[in-house]
Amino acid sequence: TACDRAPEARQDQAFVLGTLVEITAVGMEKEAFHAAAGAAFREMRRIHDALGPTDEDSALAAFNRAERGEWTPLDGPLSALLPRALSVQRASANAFNPHLGRLVALWGFRAPPFPEAPPAGEAVDALLDQGAGDRALALRRHDALLARLTRPGAALDLGGIAKGYAVDRATAVLAAHGVENALINAGGDLRALGSHGGRPWRVGIRNPRDRDRVLAVVPLHDGEAIVTSGDYERFFRHEGRRYHHLLDPATGAPARAARQATVLGPRATEADAWSTALFVAGAPGFQRLGKEQPALVIDTAGKAHASPAMKARLDWRSEEVAAP
Ligand code: ADP
Ligand code: MG
Ligand code: MG
Repeated sequence: TACDRAPEARQDQAFVLGTLVEITAVGMEKEAFHAAAGAAFREMRRIHDALGPTDEDSALAAFNRAERGEWTPLDGPLSALLPRALSVQRASANAFNPHLGRLVALWGFRAPPFPEAPPAGEAVDALLDQGAGDRALALRRHDALLARLTRPGAALDLGGIAKGYAVDRATAVLAAHGVENALINAGGDLRALGSHGGRPWRVGIRNPRDRDRVLAVVPLHDGEAIVTSGDYERFFRHEGRRYHHLLDPATGAPARAARQATVLGPRATEADAWSTALFVAGAPGFQRLGKEQPALVIDTAGKAHASPAMKARLDWRSEEVAAP
């Protein structure tokens, strides 16, 4: 039957949000597919333009330039995203922190080339003393949504959630264009629509120390997202140590609990924020995420930890990392 044959796949790629984004769809006419993918990429660019931390013109940069303590009205992607970022910050006990911007800049992780050595401990401590790692963002609704940063060390950085949000928005745009069966992959943030030839889409979770080796394969059902954060995306080495871009808000330094964290869920936005939070918290963070949600952490010794819901889905493929 037709279902047993591999369906014809179409693919489109674009460089958006600092990463290569790939959209794959099955069962579509060429022109309709490219029109839909083009619209999805445009939506992702709009989000990048609003949330980019280095772009002086972005809404995020304008917000960060406001006086500390001053209520600022939000619109567009910022107003959609900040309440969701704050709820993960709360639920994760501050492992996910959306205002580490000054610390990220101090460490030099905003854009390559990355530095050769870590910043002075005093400089990190000074930012922590100024509230960089605290809860320093407040929201209030008064006609529009208003926000303010309360501490001088805090500056918005939505790098740990923006890509997931862009993937969710792109998925909605694809669906609005009549795309029924597709997979979008934004450099480790993925979301599925429909199925692949009548079966769920299947995605690989990579080995944190070898991007070409797959640890496990997981089925992704209609609408589901899976997001991975790792210590290999942005990092430098200094005196035999790896310094990466996922900072522990408590210390202001790269978190030391994990090499990689993966979260599966109904939305890429929350999966993205939680993958960052679990990377910081390690496997003990499963408690806060909720046991029924699939999550996988590879700790710094290379040991795999899966939540019960993830164990039930994993098709383990690795020989060098023991199955959780
Ligand atoms: P990736 O860059 O691999 O997608 P993440 O989604 O985890 O990884 O996002 C990492 C980015 O999030 C960092 O580059 C930084 O901008 C920001 N960030 C770093 N530490 C934290 C943290 N503890 N909470 C929230 N955001 C963080
Ligand atoms: Mg993230
Ligand atoms: Mg991410």
